[in-house]
Amino acid sequence: MSIHSSTSAADVLVIGCGLIGLACGAAAAQRRLRVRIIGEPRVGAASLAAAGLLAPSIEREDGHASDFATAARDRYPTYVEWLRERTGLDVPLNRDGIIQVALNEAGVRGLRRAKPAEAEWLDARELAQLEPALSHGLGGVLHPLDGSVDNVRLFEALRAVVDGLARVTVVSDTVTEVRFNGQVEAIGQSGSRYSADAMVLAAGAWSSTITGLPRAIPVEPVRGQMLAYAGSPLRRAVYGPTGYVVPRTNGRTLVGATSERAGFESITTPEGIAKLARTAVEILPQFAGSPPADAWAGLRPISADLQPILGADPDEPRLLYATGHSRNGVLMTPLTGDCIGAMLAGEPAPVDIGGFSIARFAIGS
Ligand SMILES: Cc1cc2nc3c(=O)[nH]c(=O)nc-3n(C[C@H](O)[C@H](O)[C@H](O)COP(=O)(O)OP(=O)(O)OC[C@H]3O[C@@H](n4cnc5c(N)ncnc54)[C@H](O)[C@@H]3O)c2cc1C
Repeated sequence: MSIHSSTSAADVLVIGCGLIGLACGAAAAQRRLRVRIIGEPRVGAASLAAAGLLAPSIEREDGHASDFATAARDRYPTYVEWLRERTGLDVPLNRDGIIQVALNEAGVRGLRRAKPAEAEWLDARELAQLEPALSHGLGGVLHPLDGSVDNVRLFEALRAVVDGLARVTVVSDTVTEVRFNGQVEAIGQSGSRYSADAMVLAAGAWSSTITGLPRAIPVEPVRGQMLAYAGSPLRRAVYGPTGYVVPRTNGRTLVGATSERAGFESITTPEGIAKLARTAVEILPQFAGSPPADAWAGLRPISADLQPILGADPDEPRLLYATGHSRNGVLMTPLTGDCIGAMLAGEPAPVDIGGFSIARFAIGS
């Protein structure tokens, strides 16, 4: 393999072109930095496989993680408005809340017990009024501020933003190695060598596969399979006992998701599809007898404590991490971009991300 330097200069290299890499690249360019995003579409990338739930009230965390997830959800309306202004593309954002439905008495007791203060208990009549397709439910919890976003349209809009920014170039390549000398350098599979003053690692589930990083990255792929059914009988996303369903504005309902450690193999399996079909019918009995219209799988970048890894490496401050977003990377895309963009420009992050430093995984800590 011959190695040659790429010509145009960049201030920042972003490794990875999923939602996180695009959001970080766009935010850095907004701050007048010259950005090169390196990556290419990859089977199994999580950003296009996801369900788009914005559910910090259900995927509950404590302390700073909860604060970050809630701030991330609340950042969405202005973010999609900004995307629309820049690109003319509408990214469907559903802010009608999310329901957790109880399908038996044990479910009623469990949900009532766990209901957070800001959520609303719905009896069976109220539930059926809100969502007629759930008239078989015994009750439910409405989380009024949660919702969902169409992550595929979000990805398209972010890609359009970076394509429209003169300060960003997107290079189709795969980084095999990084080096930290006078400048930071990324070496691509193509043989190209890219250099800049700073680097953002946003390679999702593959983040740990690049050589030359200052430390091991505690991120692993966890496969999630998904189904889509034709028909959209719900107004809002619903969690059942074994999974969730998410209505899309294109007339489809998504069903998710499995959670499997299967390395980097992002395929669907007959067992996974059968399990999700049971989840679909459990929540929406009207889907019984209809085959799913589509099925796919993606790889979540799961960190060792399920929280993202954000901010500078403690020993190599020119390297910023934006990886390990686990089950909530769509939720956290806009706020991650805000934080990493600010840090690259030498500004403080808009919210405290100290708790997400990779230093928390240091041996003996
Ligand atoms: C089935 C499923 C359902 C999900 N549902 C939700 C949900 O409802 N809500 C939510 O918030 N989150 C959800 N998630 C999680 C969310 O999708 C992820 O956390 C998020 O998309 C991660 O984004 P990313 O950009 O880090 O990773 P990815 O989207 O995987 O992108 C990584 C990118 O890096 C590139 N890359 C990899 N290696 C290299 C390299 N060496 N050089 C250059 N580029 C490289 C890849 O090509 C890819 O483009 C779900 C995930 C799955 C799989």
